[in-house]
Amino acid sequence: MRNIYDFTLEEFKQEMVALNQKEFRAVQLFNWLYIKEAKSFDEMSDVSIKFREVLKEKYSLFLPKILVKQESLDGTIKLLLEMEDGAKVETVLMRYDYGNVLCVTSQVGCNMGCAFCASGLLKKQRDLKTYEIVSQVMVMNSLLEKDDKISHIVVMGTGEPFDNYDNVMRFIHILNCNKGLNIGARHITVSTSGLTEKIKQYGKEGLQVNLAISLHAPNDELRSKIMKINRAYPLEKLVEALKQYQIDSNNRRLTFEYIMLAGVNDNLKEADELVHFIKDNELFAYVNLIPYNEVKEMPFKRSDNTRVHRFMSHLKKNGINVTVRKEFGTDIDAACGQLRAKKEGIIEC
Ligand code: SAH
Ligand code: SF4
Repeated sequence: MRNIYDFTLEEFKQEMVALNQKEFRAVQLFNWLYIKEAKSFDEMSDVSIKFREVLKEKYSLFLPKILVKQESLDGTIKLLLEMEDGAKVETVLMRYDYGNVLCVTSQVGCNMGCAFCASGLLKKQRDLKTYEIVSQVMVMNSLLEKDDKISHIVVMGTGEPFDNYDNVMRFIHILNCNKGLNIGARHITVSTSGLTEKIKQYGKEGLQVNLAISLHAPNDELRSKIMKINRAYPLEKLVEALKQYQIDSNNRRLTFEYIMLAGVNDNLKEADELVHFIKDNELFAYVNLIPYNEVKEMPFKRSDNTRVHRFMSHLKKNGINVTVRKEFGTDIDAACGQLRAKKEGIIEC
């Protein structure tokens, strides 16, 4: 039985036609699922009882179970969800002044093995299916009032989204559908550690979605030390892919994420290399400095404010746009991936 949140509207129209229904039936069901947030077919009062029975036989409405819910004083909500096979997945709602941003998970664990990341402690068990990514939005939305729903999505939870490319793209199409969740492409950001072939493919999708790159180091030597993936896709390859992406995406602005690791990548030397990396390669990008959430089992420490400001000033002085990421939910389990890792007994928070 296929999960109903697994279909794009186009696919669901075909399903309905195959069941001798008009295409409009798909629009009507999307309205029930994504706008009215119906949790059973019996709520769908304008669908005949007979056809509801057909739907019940063909499609599952399964949504994951909430294992843990943590709510912060700043309004951040963090959920640990359990999928049908028992896989545990985290999703986090952050409240910015421009809207409610949901950070979704794309894989169970991650194989990229970045040296600083709690998610990488748990090797990838499997990709999430399209409906399992959609279901994170549905469960979180069900906890929110009508005028307080999710308005923005970042694919920055556990996993490497471009290692699960097709499911992430189908998820984006479902989010984007104006008969359903209607979350605009400009409100959606995918973060990658730098899978270059997929970066190029993403640029060619013809969507106005955003791209964030986890850079974290401005030279190959350092980047290969803290991000294993740099050995397969060094900076030269990354730049080539980003240049292609910028051409294909009509010069959309990129975000470079840069975790501030004390004494590792937060010196003036790296700040200057970063300026050159962006300017010399003529990349249209801004830098988002990320305060590191320390993970007990890992050797890295968070940079103090003085070092963050020194780094930031150097970028600014050289004409690079830079922001420091706001921190959310500091009174609940910190970084993405930590809640799950803690539950699995891999780390202590
Ligand atoms: N795999 C993708 C997306 C998920 S990670 C990627 O790497 O881009 C999302 C972001 O969180 C990345 O920039 C990652 O480097 C960052 N991150 C990982 N562990 C962190 C930690 N302990 N503190 C702060 N940011 C962290
Ligand atoms: Fe995977 Fe991203 Fe964590 Fe690296 S930072 S291990 S790519 S989730």
